[in-house]
Amino acid sequence: MTYTLTVKKIEPLTHDTYHIICSRPDGFDFEPGQATHMALDKDGWRDEDRPFTMTSDPSADHVSFVIKSYPSHDGVTEMIPDIEPGDRWIAEEPAGAITDHGCGTFIAAGAGITPYIAILDKHARDGIGGDHLIFANEADRDIILKDHWDQMSGLTATYVISDQEDTEHRKGKLDADMLRDIGVQTDRPCYVCGPQGFVDDIRDALKDVGVPEDKIITEAGW
Ligand SMILES: Cc1cc2nc3c(=O)[nH]c(=O)nc-3n(C[C@H](O)[C@H](O)[C@H](O)COP(=O)(O)OP(=O)(O)OC[C@H]3O[C@@H](n4cnc5c(N)ncnc54)[C@H](O)[C@@H]3O)c2cc1C
Repeated sequence: MTYTLTVKKIEPLTHDTYHIICSRPDGFDFEPGQATHMALDKDGWRDEDRPFTMTSDPSADHVSFVIKSYPSHDGVTEMIPDIEPGDRWIAEEPAGAITDHGCGTFIAAGAGITPYIAILDKHARDGIGGDHLIFANEADRDIILKDHWDQMSGLTATYVISDQEDTEHRKGKLDADMLRDIGVQTDRPCYVCGPQGFVDDIRDALKDVGVPEDKIITEAGW
């Protein structure tokens, strides 16, 4: 089963990341954190489906995405800045990805934040406090939705910046020592999302700091 999602609005969130709001077709149901494979309904692109995560409230009348554009890939995401209202995506049945396992530590790199948008928004709506977001990026300007996280009630946000000397956030590469220093509650779910190398490294680092394997929630193949 495929669905047609028509773009209603597109707006930049950072220098390379866009918020895309689409119509939500009947039957396009999903849980917070889930993703779909979708392709642009344009000549030359219909067979080029890629996984993207729905970031809106599943009960909303629209569906939204937050997509990072990689001009160096020469692929679908290079097209993102040129998308316009009226353009269409062909989307598959929502599936898999990271779903809500309750209050915990949410660790992301870059666009790996996307599954947490719908999950943490839901926690905020439901009044669930105590979540901790640890968000790794190369530079301050890469932090997606920083104001949103800073203002979210019940959420503590820690930013880790790897490649910008003058950042006011934690500087360096996120590893077991930094996780210990930040403080991770080992008895709660630890969600990890980002490029596969990041997920593998952080999974090992979390085990190092004492988080049991069954508390680590990841999505393979990002
Ligand atoms: C379940 C899931 C959900 C996702 N959700 C989101 C989301 O909501 N938002 C989001 O922004 N991203 C998300 N992603 C990541 C997203 O799917 C990829 O960024 C996207 O598929 C890249 O597509 P592309 O066509 O631009 O490039 P690709 O198809 O990845 O690459 C095209 C070409 O670019 C080159 N290339 C690939 N990777 C690199 C690299 N690292 N450096 C240099 N060259 C490279 C290769 O030559 C490749 O053939 C998700 C991934 C998964 C698995």
